[in-house]
Amino acid sequence: MPDFAFELLGQDGAARRGKLQTAHGAIDTPVFMPVGTAGTVKGVLPEQVADTGAQIILGNTYHLMLRPGAERVARLGGLHRFMNWPGPILTDSGGFQVMSLGALRKITEQGVTFKSHLDGTAHDLTPERAVGIQNLLDSDISMVLDECTSFPATHEEARSSMELSMRWAARCREAFEARPGYGLFGIVQGGVYPDLREVSAKELIDIGFDGYAVGGLAVGEGHDTMLQVLDSTTPFLPSNRPRYLMGVGKPEDIVQAVARGIDMFDCVLPTRSGRTGQAFTRRGSLNIRNARHKDDPRPLDEACRCPACKDYSRAYLNHLVRSDEMLGPILLTLHNLTYYQDLMAGLRTAIAEQRLEDFVAQFEAEQAQGDLEPL
Ligand SMILES: [Zn+2]
Repeated sequence: MPDFAFELLGQDGAARRGKLQTAHGAIDTPVFMPVGTAGTVKGVLPEQVADTGAQIILGNTYHLMLRPGAERVARLGGLHRFMNWPGPILTDSGGFQVMSLGALRKITEQGVTFKSHLDGTAHDLTPERAVGIQNLLDSDISMVLDECTSFPATHEEARSSMELSMRWAARCREAFEARPGYGLFGIVQGGVYPDLREVSAKELIDIGFDGYAVGGLAVGEGHDTMLQVLDSTTPFLPSNRPRYLMGVGKPEDIVQAVARGIDMFDCVLPTRSGRTGQAFTRRGSLNIRNARHKDDPRPLDEACRCPACKDYSRAYLNHLVRSDEMLGPILLTLHNLTYYQDLMAGLRTAIAEQRLEDFVAQFEAEQAQGDLEPL
């Protein structure tokens, strides 16, 4: 079993090219992790997810603990076997979804109590339980339980929330069972306040984690504020550990965050948007439901290698989505995941070849062009 190890292979400015070894395989960074909320990347087979280029997926502790239950997944051989994804899996701690989906939640020093959004049953999520659940799921990368600081928050609110998260992070580290190839990541909090982000990063480093995430972003603060928070956080993170920007994001957010030294990303955008007809391409995003695609025989993106672009027209995709045919969301999900993975591959190559600045300029120029002119 390989150690959980992060190797920095190259740098271009602040951007990093690396390799992360886990119990279930290696991950090339910068990496995008598709979200497999309830033990499935919705609508697509695990081998199709792998074909897009994905090397790691994300599972949601909150959903899996409620249904089918972490103990059941463990009895059935862990999440990799249960969902037939043999590669690395990162799980979140469940905290974010308890805050956004759970009812009647109550936060105390001990943890969070909440009622399931499925059946109203009461549950506790403590730092120890969050780590225990992720262990039962056999997650390669576990995340600490943190309190998601609300946005906007005053300095005082952000400080007290961050301090609670730091006490929980220490309890998570204590509860985590170290095994070769498995890692636990801490999460930097502190809202939009640089002084709090610095304190949080330093406290996490004192505790010692296998990787460091930047949390509490993509909650409505906007692109520029997000980048400012990254600028005031990443300088305090150790260079020999992976850095993960949680819940981000749009292609332009990812490109800018990679340029600032972030290694890992996850977001529901490519999959969730795919299910509503939104496609991401080199020339920005488009909605395939739009009437202007009805007679268009061209692919979504002629340069894309995905099944939707190789074999199907915009007109056909438009027809599928308008007819609520299952194949529409499936093809758009495959396209969007492929677009995201190819973007990451392009970023990795550009960093390795020391031409990230040119890559970003070309990315921005193509995005600014907008979609193809109608025929
Ligand atoms: Zn495509």
